[in-house]
This record gives sequence, structure tokens and C-alpha cells, in this order.
Amino acid sequence: MTDVQENLRDWLRDAHAMEEQAITMLSKTADRLENYPELRTKLELHCEQTREQARLIRGCLERLGDDPSSLKDATAKFMATMQAMSGMFVTDEVVKATMAAYTFEHMEIASYRSLIAAAQAAGDMETQRVCEMILPQEEAMANWLAEQLPIVTQQFLARDAAPNTEAKH
Ligand code: MG
Ligand code: FE
Repeated sequence: MTDVQENLRDWLRDAHAMEEQAITMLSKTADRLENYPELRTKLELHCEQTREQARLIRGCLERLGDDPSSLKDATAKFMATMQAMSGMFVTDEVVKATMAAYTFEHMEIASYRSLIAAAQAAGDMETQRVCEMILPQEEAMANWLAEQLPIVTQQFLARDAAPNTEAKH
């Protein structure tokens, strides 16, 4: 058996690895976008927000007498690098990247909803407070991406149909 605190710590480590993955994915994707300035700016802003989220989760882990797992973080960063690099091999990179970002935000939303319930069960009010603060940031980003996905898709299609216009990223 595993006690509530131990599960909470483990899931906070997962959340930290997830945010490290997000930082890598957001920064590498933003760096590659040349023709979609609005999307690029938003990804950069959310990347800054994500750095703060990772810092807050580290704070929760430290209070529980734990460090984020360096192994999970390294794996997450590696996966994010591969994900961002896969954009180099597709012609519709910006569309795939926006879809991936949209999917990722929903994974974050699911994680924080679950973490809030776990923190409640563990009686860890500070972790609950932190996760309740992060959740609406992820929801806001998910909503923004939901609105942007059709816009980005149509921008891509228009650029791709035009002569001598780079559409990919
Ligand atoms: Mg996040
Ligand atoms: Fe996020």
C-alpha cells in the first residue's frame, strides 16, 4: 500500500516533469515560428508563466521534504525536444504544433484537477492553493488555443496556397 502523502508527492513530481516538458516544448516551438507572430508571442508568454508554475510545484515538493525527480525531468525534456524537432520534418508544422499545444494544455488541466483532489485528501492546503492558482492559467491557455486553432489553420492554408510564401512555420 501507498499512503496519501506519498501518492501526492509522486504526482507532484509528475507535474514538475510535465511543466519542464512544457517549457522545452513552448520555447523550442516559439523559436521556430517566423510567420505567426501572434502565436509566437503567446507561446513565449505562457512559457514564462510555465517557469513560474514549475517553481511553485518545486516549492510544494520541498515543503513535503522532497526534490523533483531529475530522471523524470530529463525524460520529459528529451521527449519535448523530440516533439519540437518532429516539426522539422512536416510541411504543416504550425498546425501540428498548435494542435500539440492544445492537447498538452488539456493534459495539464487533467493533472491539476486530479492534484487538487489529492491535496485535499492529504490535507495539504498549500498544495491545493497552488494547484487551484495554476489550473485557471492552463484553462485560459487551452481556451486561447481553441480559438486560435481554426485561425492558424486558415492562415496556414492561405499562405500555403500563395506563391513564394513560406507557410510551414
Ligand atoms: Mg503548465
Ligand atoms: Fe500550460
